[in-house]
Amino acid sequence: IPEVCFAGRSNVGKSSLINALLNKKKIARTSNVPGKTQQMNYYKVGDDFYLVDLPGYGYAKVPKKERERWGQNIRSYLMDRQNLKLVLHVVDARHDPSRLDEDFFYWMAMNEKPFSVLMSKADKISRNKVNQSKAKVRRVLKEMNIEVPIIPYSADNRDGIEEIRSLIKEFINH
Ligand code: GDP
Repeated sequence: IPEVCFAGRSNVGKSSLINALLNKKKIARTSNVPGKTQQMNYYKVGDDFYLVDLPGYGYAKVPKKERERWGQNIRSYLMDRQNLKLVLHVVDARHDPSRLDEDFFYWMAMNEKPFSVLMSKADKISRNKVNQSKAKVRRVLKEMNIEVPIIPYSADNRDGIEEIRSLIKEFINH
């Protein structure tokens, strides 16, 4: 069964997005406590595919040893998983991509892994600001010669959710 996974730092909105895509209120656990998702969680969508929530990176309270071990696990998952069709990297629409985000984009591109950048919490800023943020992300990617879909969305008002759904469909079907 094909898989689509979600990457991004803790608290960026991955669980809320998974819930929005699943059309359910309380499957993926959301919280205000950064770093709560420390395991990979699988959510089956019909008989078609799995959504996989990866542990958020950059959570300082987790011991360094632990963080490194998780980093290794995630890297080998992203690198070797045969049925992984698409990686959705979530960033907060209100902030410029961090160094960690940029490193991730670069690493994915170098390894020729299909990914897309999703910009969460778009409802928290004006449409104008959303467009500016999107242009900024596109510029950052362009500098690394990367061209991938960039989709702003809101798990709250569901803007962009259908577009993300279509993107997923497109990738799991080949
Ligand atoms: P995760 O750690 O990446 O799984 O992040 P969560 O899904 O738990 O979300 C972290 C916080 O951001 C929660 O308080 C969510 O309610 C909030 N949040 C997530 N997505 C959105 C969104 O699209 N709009 C708004 N306004 N808040 C959001």
